[in-house]
Amino acid sequence: MGQLLDGKQLANIRAEVLQKQVLTLKMAGIQPQFCVINIGNDPSSKIYLKTKKRRADQIGIKQKLFQLPSNVTQKNLLELIDRLNNDKSVNGIMIQLPVPKQIILNEALAAIDPNKDVDCLTPANVGRLWQGDHFVEPATAHGILALLDHYHISLKGKNAVIIGRSSIVGKPLAALMLERDATVSILHLKTKNLAEYTKRADILVSATGHPKLVKANMIKKNAVIIDVGISRFNGKTVGDVDFEQVAPIASFITPVPGGIGPLTVESLMEQVVQLTRRNNGKQ
Ligand code: NAD
Repeated sequence: MGQLLDGKQLANIRAEVLQKQVLTLKMAGIQPQFCVINIGNDPSSKIYLKTKKRRADQIGIKQKLFQLPSNVTQKNLLELIDRLNNDKSVNGIMIQLPVPKQIILNEALAAIDPNKDVDCLTPANVGRLWQGDHFVEPATAHGILALLDHYHISLKGKNAVIIGRSSIVGKPLAALMLERDATVSILHLKTKNLAEYTKRADILVSATGHPKLVKANMIKKNAVIIDVGISRFNGKTVGDVDFEQVAPIASFITPVPGGIGPLTVESLMEQVVQLTRRNNGKQ
């Protein structure tokens, strides 16, 4: 049976460290604050917002929510972003996904000041990420690397296979894993034979939202399995990996829930603190 990679426990350990860093900033008269722009009433977004707020409160970070109606115009959204860009008390800005169809997401993301881009989604910061000289990291990818580091799992020379090519998980994780000298493959919905690639993975990350996609016959013995997926299946929260089948073959495996989820939220707070320090000349 593979060893559990306990993301929840690591998130709590890192939150305690962060809490102390925030206290030091506050003693210097600096309050870390980030703003979340939420458009419309997506039910999952509501849950994520609550989770973020709870973690921010615990650490001492201010989270301000800007709730916009589902029919908000692009112009109004850009005006809000501009206002937050120019507000010195704001250290981080993020747009909660998904957004309604009338919003041109890439244009809105590009309008965010890269120095306040907590999600690392502006074109400038995505470019920096691939150049390997970034000052902010996307939360989920940051959390995955923190978890691997905590359990002393090196990426150097390993075959890392990522299922899912989204801008928030698969692509940025590939950039960071390349930087750590892994040989990275990114698979997606149009990949012809997933198992052909996944069977060669020393480290397999799945981020699709497709329950039980990863089966025992798709992985090699002693692989490290990172399950990012979150979906509802038979009334339960599950990941992409068929845990019962895969855990006995893996060397390490994340649970869902209690794996990457809590680390993502905590990592987001780390990015807020990182930007706060940077924006206040504290680095
Ligand atoms: P997305 O819909 O933007 O991307 C999904 C990706 O998976 C796409 O690239 C798609 O090509 C690929 N995919 C889907 N089904 C596939 C299949 N059957 N075979 C191969 N590839 C397939 O989603 P996202 O925002 O990247 O999120 C992915 C999952 O991760 C969701 O379940 C989401 O809830 C979860 N998520 C979890 C966290 C966390 O903190 N644990 C963070 C972000 C996303």
